Amino acid sequence: MFTPRDAVGQRSETVRRSNLSAIVRELHLRGPLSRSDLVSHTGLTRSAIRGLIGELVAGGLVAETRSAPAGTPGRPSPLVHPEAESAVVLALEVNVDSLAVARVGFGGTIHELVRVDRPRAHVTVDEIVADLVELAEPVLAAIPSDGTLVGIGVGVAGIVRRLDGLVRLAPNLGWRDVPLGARLSAALHAGVPLAVANEADLGGLAEHRRGAAVGAENVVFVMGEVGVGGNVIVNGQPLVGAAGYAGEIGHMAVNPAGTACGCGAFGCWETEIGERAMLVRAGRSADGGPYAVGELIDAATAGEPEALASLAHVGAWLGIGLASLTNVFNPTLVVLGGVFARIHPLISEALGAILEQHALPASRELVRVVPGALGVDAPLIGAAELAFEPMLADPAVRLAAVRARRPALASA
Ligand SMILES: [Zn+2]
Repeated sequence: MFTPRDAVGQRSETVRRSNLSAIVRELHLRGPLSRSDLVSHTGLTRSAIRGLIGELVAGGLVAETRSAPAGTPGRPSPLVHPEAESAVVLALEVNVDSLAVARVGFGGTIHELVRVDRPRAHVTVDEIVADLVELAEPVLAAIPSDGTLVGIGVGVAGIVRRLDGLVRLAPNLGWRDVPLGARLSAALHAGVPLAVANEADLGGLAEHRRGAAVGAENVVFVMGEVGVGGNVIVNGQPLVGAAGYAGEIGHMAVNPAGTACGCGAFGCWETEIGERAMLVRAGRSADGGPYAVGELIDAATAGEPEALASLAHVGAWLGIGLASLTNVFNPTLVVLGGVFARIHPLISEALGAILEQHALPASRELVRVVPGALGVDAPLIGAAELAFEPMLADPAVRLAAVRARRPALASA
């Protein structure tokens, strides 16, 4: 029977779990912190922090060192470190030009990262799953089979239903309604939660947590790959939408007189600033791929007029779309990822001039446009962050699993 005493107990257990989550999240995102830092970042009392750190040390998730940096005045405050091997995730990425896998530890330490190029062609989900499993198996084998693996995150160049990892549309892979999440869960049989998301959403998440947008609360991320994707952070939270489809900024209708887009519509932003448009306008083949893009950037840097004109067009149209996004979301930071980060020095003038003309001055004055800091691995790093979410939200589950194993270890 349910008594008031049970209610109090349940409430205090809920509070304990949420306090553990606050501490674990701070350590994961900021790295080693003193107890005083934790008090100021979480708002918890010193004695509450002491008790919870004790639990986390006993569970092996964190360690404390007594030493303080040399030259620090006063009594040294112990530093609490996340233990990078105590909980790890597997991150996977299905890019149009490559497949990648990484093993990432608590605190964001990348233990291992493998990326292999793949030919740009339509492929079946069977082929992709088989290739990913082949890449992932040796990485999984390096993880102890004692519950250290806490999640799997997958980034894919497509529109993804977050609930179950169904890829609704991935024009550059030739996929429509492909159950990537279910297929990978079954093939990897890892027994941990697996989450799938759009790779630009994950790139933005990674730049916000560990890259160019750390500390910014309102951010627009625009990533140029074969397609153009993005992510918007509002008040510190990524915009996901009702089913996970938010942030498809590459398909904003910007030019009614424009050309056909891979999504089936006309005049999407992607058709003005995407890789194919960039190459064609510079007199190159639309399907030249990463090599042709590299050559185009080199040619523009060397001053070739056609290449420069093409990038000026991209810069101007980037400015058009970003002016609208700036007016709608009032960000302090626009982060350019993928090819846009690489061409940023060549387009920043054209982009800035258009923003100046088209964005409302009140919003324009607050926004800076910067290249991303994480390069090509941003979506993979974001996939790892997605995979850590269940543990960050409730670390007590991991602690209970460690405690449950203790008697077995003792009698072994
Ligand atoms: Zn489109």
